[in-house]
Amino acid sequence: MIVALSGGIGGAKLALGLSHVLPPDELLVVANTGDDFEHLGLSISPDIDTLTYALAGLDNQELGWGRRDETWSFMETLASIGGETWFRLGDRDLALHVERTRRLRAGETLTAITADIVRRFGIGPRILPMSDDPVRTRIRSDEGWLDFQHWFVRDQTRPPVRGIDFAGAASARPNPVLIDALRARPRAVVICPSNPFISIEPILAVPGLREAIAACGAPVIAVSPIIAGQAVKGPTARMFEQAGIAPSAAAVAARYAGLLTHFVMEPEDDATGIAAQVIRAPTLMRSLEDKVALARAVLAAA
Ligand code: GDP
Repeated sequence: MIVALSGGIGGAKLALGLSHVLPPDELLVVANTGDDFEHLGLSISPDIDTLTYALAGLDNQELGWGRRDETWSFMETLASIGGETWFRLGDRDLALHVERTRRLRAGETLTAITADIVRRFGIGPRILPMSDDPVRTRIRSDEGWLDFQHWFVRDQTRPPVRGIDFAGAASARPNPVLIDALRARPRAVVICPSNPFISIEPILAVPGLREAIAACGAPVIAVSPIIAGQAVKGPTARMFEQAGIAPSAAAVAARYAGLLTHFVMEPEDDATGIAAQVIRAPTLMRSLEDKVALARAVLAAA
């Protein structure tokens, strides 16, 4: 079993590559649920959905988020009657949130609902929430605490980050399926090229998970989301700067200190000070071939 820890966009690219080179029952993708939120009465799980759409081949390549072949009647109508429109929900995407919300209210776990939806989309590997208990990332800016999606989508990551909190993490139970997978000694734990601060660290904040990964006896292999000091997309590099750290691949590796055995990074980037075996590989994933090649490099390390 390969256990892959993932956020949304960056993580899903490597997860897709891994899904092409591994038998379906040998890949377990663990999704960050710190981005989850309740909006318009719906339970929305952005990273689970990004992974689901990517692995099903249904991701919207033009927008870079959401579903392919999307229509927007719901959003247009909502705007016309004065509803909140800062978080855009396409019509097809909406059906997923409505159904997940109904099933959560009926008492099913997020794990069970996600497993069923993943199967119905024809996806082989499992996608697993890090926990079935709510964990909510919050961002402290100069004006106080912001709910994650208010900062990320509504305010477009503009307010400088002065602090990050994972509300609920201290009392969240790690997903038992993940704990069992780690106890069974996976072939490797892969930390996908996701934002360390808001995609991977919420997963590691669930009590017991960091320890279970460290104790599982498998190689722990992270892929850098920072290339030549810059993020491919999103606020990762800026978040390092705001934390007083120069953004670099080595700075990413330092976030995972004590956990990593291997670190995959660009051939040209500086590896000084990285306390893990460094593997040089092209890490920019534009095409499916890039994703598959990077997945193979990760598995070769494993
Ligand atoms: P989010 O939850 O949607 O923000 O997604 P992630 O945290 O999984 O992904 C954001 C990170 O992915 C950013 O730090 C990007 O630099 C990184 N990323 C996106 N595309 C690529 C890529 O092709 N290669 C690498 N190495 N990193 C990428």
